[in-house]
Amino acid sequence: MCGTVGPVDDAALILDDLVALRRRLHQHPEVGLHLPQTQAAVLEALAGLPLEISTGAGLSSVVAVLRGDLQGPDLPGPTVLLRGDMDGLPVVEDSGEPFASTTGTMHACGHDLHVAGLVGAARLLSARKAELAGNVVFMFQPGEEGPGGALPMIEEGVLEAAGTPVDAAFGIHVTGLYDKGLFVSKPGPAWAGVNLLHVTVHGKGGHGSSPWMSVDPVTVAAEIVMALQSYTTRRINVFDPVVITVGELHAGTASNVIPSTARLTASVRTLSSASLKQLTLELPRLVQGISAAHGCTADVDVEPEYPVTVNDAGMWDHAKTVLTGMYGPDRVHERSEPIMGAEDFSYVLERVPGCFIQLGARPDDVPAEGAPSNHSAKVRFDDSVLGEQAAALAELAVATLTKLAVPSPQAAGVVRE
Ligand SMILES: [Zn+2]
Repeated sequence: MCGTVGPVDDAALILDDLVALRRRLHQHPEVGLHLPQTQAAVLEALAGLPLEISTGAGLSSVVAVLRGDLQGPDLPGPTVLLRGDMDGLPVVEDSGEPFASTTGTMHACGHDLHVAGLVGAARLLSARKAELAGNVVFMFQPGEEGPGGALPMIEEGVLEAAGTPVDAAFGIHVTGLYDKGLFVSKPGPAWAGVNLLHVTVHGKGGHGSSPWMSVDPVTVAAEIVMALQSYTTRRINVFDPVVITVGELHAGTASNVIPSTARLTASVRTLSSASLKQLTLELPRLVQGISAAHGCTADVDVEPEYPVTVNDAGMWDHAKTVLTGMYGPDRVHERSEPIMGAEDFSYVLERVPGCFIQLGARPDDVPAEGAPSNHSAKVRFDDSVLGEQAAALAELAVATLTKLAVPSPQAAGVVRE
């Protein structure tokens, strides 16, 4: 393991800088696709490194390319992409941290750590440029919490930023639930795909005293809410689970008025394209059937949001080997189950083999039992993991470039005449 002691030690040397950057970002979270202050902080932190830097046209993204020295124009090396998302959430912070945000927005999902960790990886890899057998693309992405920044960045060319297509991609996401310093992921579907179900039930409004003279969409909407739950247990393969949560239900303006419409929106989470296809076909039929049975009509739309995040099994095996080499087997854990949350890094992993890995960042003084989860106003992340985050990303890039690089004739022992 002597070859991997270096990056861990190097990361310790820059930890103070990364913590300072993270805390600065934490005080000023920005939400969505336009994050001017965060973008400026990233550009400032990358200044002076041997990177080719560009910024997004339609969003405040930053893309930086590092070209390794162990490649030439006639023998270009592979390209690895490392991703960190940058956005906060519209959450009023109640973490008690001395550097808590007071702006009404919060880095409640730890994306401030992702930015600082990716900056750290850029610094570590810049120092190791001479031993890189290819290119590294650093993807600083806004809008993960919505409306989605990965797809616009792909459309703006992040996967071809180095001039050749990206060959492998990695991202690390901190969590307030796992022990500090624990790396966790799984092969195959690892995070759910999320889709929205929009339903409008049309009835006939009237006086609340005489429902038989109206067509009440409220009772129909209530029946649909319950039917969606029995649908998932009766129609969906139990080994390919689906979660349907009706998070919005709107109807009416007064207790004595039967409204003419009722509206609901559900988040529909899937782990396969097969179940998404089935839902897209069957949910309109279910909703329209119930509505018709009561004399209503319904508009139904299943809108895909983020696809399923699928880790390449070989890349996860490779990542496990790299991380175990750095930190030992006790720090690397393979989950058996996916997470039903969603991630737009899925758009990258749909196009490029790679994997998305969680990193535990629960502070020592927060008991595992009942620890606040990501997105909670009370969640805290121990930013001493930033060294591990930066070193792990950097080492994944180095090891993957080495693994994917076509050996030069000299290195392969082939002597050309
Ligand atoms: Zn997140």
